[in-house]
Amino acid sequence: MRKGSVILFYVMVAYMFISFSWWTILLLEKNKEVFVEERNFLELKNSIKNNTDTDFENSSAYEILLKKYESQKRMILSEAVVMMMLLLTGTFQLYRTFSKEIELNRRQKNFLLSITHELKSPLSSTKLSLQTLLKRNKLDDDRYFKLINNSLNDVERLKILVDNLLLSARIEDHSYQPSFELCNISSITEEIFSKSKEVHGLNKSIDFSIQPGLMVNGDTLALQTIINNINDNAIKYTADGASIHCHLFEDLNEVIITVSDNGFGIPQEEKQKIFSKFYRVGNEETRSTTGTGLGLYMVKELLKLLKGKIYVNDNSPKGTVFKISLPKAQLT
Ligand code: ADP
Repeated sequence: MRKGSVILFYVMVAYMFISFSWWTILLLEKNKEVFVEERNFLELKNSIKNNTDTDFENSSAYEILLKKYESQKRMILSEAVVMMMLLLTGTFQLYRTFSKEIELNRRQKNFLLSITHELKSPLSSTKLSLQTLLKRNKLDDDRYFKLINNSLNDVERLKILVDNLLLSARIEDHSYQPSFELCNISSITEEIFSKSKEVHGLNKSIDFSIQPGLMVNGDTLALQTIINNINDNAIKYTADGASIHCHLFEDLNEVIITVSDNGFGIPQEEKQKIFSKFYRVGNEETRSTTGTGLGLYMVKELLKLLKGKIYVNDNSPKGTVFKISLPKAQLT
């Protein structure tokens, strides 16, 4: 929503309140004027009829008039209070809707900026690799395989991005339903963290302690998406030399997975927001890490479908701990 519309909204609300209060005061005044007029008229009528100066204020006619005046005053005031409350509630609801719309617009703008970047950079680098391969037909083996590998990694990055976009669209329109089957969560997690160690092991210290053979009822794709996203984030939001640790174990009827890092950490006020669609901490223009703000949204939604939960806490002395719990499969 544009700034002009927001200002117009506030001006309209202020006008409504002022004009409403003014009409209430005016009605009260008019009611009083009518009362005084009627009172004078009745008093005059009374004095002509009785031809005496009897105490009019003790007469029943005055009592009825006073009651009528008081009840009309009460009616105006109670109507005013009810209307004011309705107006306040309506304005508050409108304000909340506006704020949500503004926030969603901001996130969508950030998402478009980041998705453009995420699509453009692997495409440009693949194009460059292919052009180099085409131009120089006498490349040594090392360089040749490096260029091919880089291109394959870029294509893989694009595939993951597109898969994530499709999956999140399917989650949103409820067309994605996990196929509940017995899954070995220990091997899925171990595979992801071993691969991550292979790829990032030079820059970060990645280790894991995984209790073997733990089974959950779930869907391999959903479980891989969940663990991959948490692992990717731990890699992305930590500096070189950081430590990342994954611990998987059973606790009563649950399987618990914790992923802790000693990276940038997440401010307290952002902890619940990071699970919203497109939400990224900070602003896209000033943010250096790549991402779309879809990862944790998908993680939360997938866990809901698998009857699992996710919690986020601070690590000590710094960094973040994500804790996931999933119901353990009951093996008969
Ligand atoms: P993306 O990583 O694509 O931005 P996510 O939905 O995965 O989107 O994460 C949302 C936001 O939560 C990230 O932008 C980041 O600011 C924050 N975040 C997630 N994981 C971590 C982490 N391990 N450490 C610090 N910040 C994190």
